[in-house]
Amino acid sequence: MKRVADRLLIAGVGLIGGSLALALRQRGVVGEIVGLGRSRRNMRVALERGIIDRIERDPARAAEGVDMVVVAVPVRAIASVVTSLAPHLPARAVVTDAGSVKGPIVAAVERALGRGASRFCGAHPIAGTEDSGAASATESLLEGERCVLTPTPRTSRTTQRRIRALWAGAGMRVETLPAAEHDPIFALVSHLPHIAAFALVRTVAEAGGAPRALTYAAGGFRDGTRVAGSSPEMWTDIFLANRRAVTKAIDQFIGSCTKLRKAIADEDHEALEAELVAAQRVRRRLAAPGPGPARRRRR
Ligand code: NAD
Repeated sequence: MKRVADRLLIAGVGLIGGSLALALRQRGVVGEIVGLGRSRRNMRVALERGIIDRIERDPARAAEGVDMVVVAVPVRAIASVVTSLAPHLPARAVVTDAGSVKGPIVAAVERALGRGASRFCGAHPIAGTEDSGAASATESLLEGERCVLTPTPRTSRTTQRRIRALWAGAGMRVETLPAAEHDPIFALVSHLPHIAAFALVRTVAEAGGAPRALTYAAGGFRDGTRVAGSSPEMWTDIFLANRRAVTKAIDQFIGSCTKLRKAIADEDHEALEAELVAAQRVRRRLAAPGPGPARRRRR
C-alpha cells in the first residue's frame, strides 16, 4: 500500500487517534507520528505503547514539517486546536478530524483556516467503544468499518483524495455525505441510543429501592445501557453540538414511549403487540455486522 504521510500529526491521542495511528503503522503506510495532547499521563502511555514516536506540547513545534494532521480531540476542542496549529502548518499539509458531529465543526474549522480551508476535509470514523484514552486504542478498532467524509465546496480535490487515502489506509471503508445529512442521521442512530442509555441508568438509579433493583440487573439492562459507560466529556460535547437534531430525536423517542405507555395503560393488547412486532421486524432487518471483527463492542 502507498504511504499516506511521511510525518503525521495526531492531536488528541485517545481511543480514536491512537487506534488510527496503530492501524496506519501496522499497515506500513505512515512514516513518523507526532502526538499533541492535553494530558501528560495519556501521552506517556501513547509513547510507551509505540502509538506515537514523539510528544510535542507546543503547536508550532508539533506542526513542523508535517504533511497531514488528524484532530481527534473532543468535539468542542476541535476548532480551537486547528486555530492554534493553522499559522504553523506547512503549505502541503492537509487536515482532517474525527468528530462525531460535523455541521458546526466543519464550519468552525473552515473559519479557523480562512483561505486555507481547501486543505480541510472533515471525517467521522464510525467505530468505537465506551472506553477512552490511548490505553484503550487498538490496531483493529477501525478495520473494515465505515468512515464518513464530509467535504464542502471549499475542500480541494487533492485534500479529499489524500484524506480518503488516510482513512482507507487504516482499513476503513470510506464514503462521503454532506454534513447537513450526517448530523440528523447520527442524532438518530448514535446520539439517541446514548441518551436512552444514560436516561435508563438514571431512571433506575433514582427509582425507589434502586441499589437493590440493580443487583438483579441482567442481560437486558446491561445490553441496553452499555454505552452509558462512555466518556461524559465527549458526550456532553456531542449532544450540545448537535442539539437541534438531538432534541428532535428525543421528542420522537418520547412519542414512541408515550404510544407504548398508552397501549399498556389501556390494556390494548392488539396495539401494543403491533408496535412490538413492527420494532422486531426492523431490528431483525438490521444488517449483520460488517467485515470488521464482529466480536468487538460497537457504538
Ligand atoms: P478520547 O477521550 O479517548 O481521546 C481524546 C483525547 O484528546 C484525549 O487523550 C484528551 O486528552 C485529548 N484532548 C482533549 N482536549 C485536547 C486539546 N485541547 N488538545 C489536545 N488534546 C486534547 O476520545 P475519543 O473517543 O478518541 O474521541 C475523539 C474524537 O473522536 C471525538 O471528537 C469524538 O467525537 C470522535 N469519535 C469518537 C468515537 C468513540 O466511540 N469514542 C467514535 C467516532 C468518533
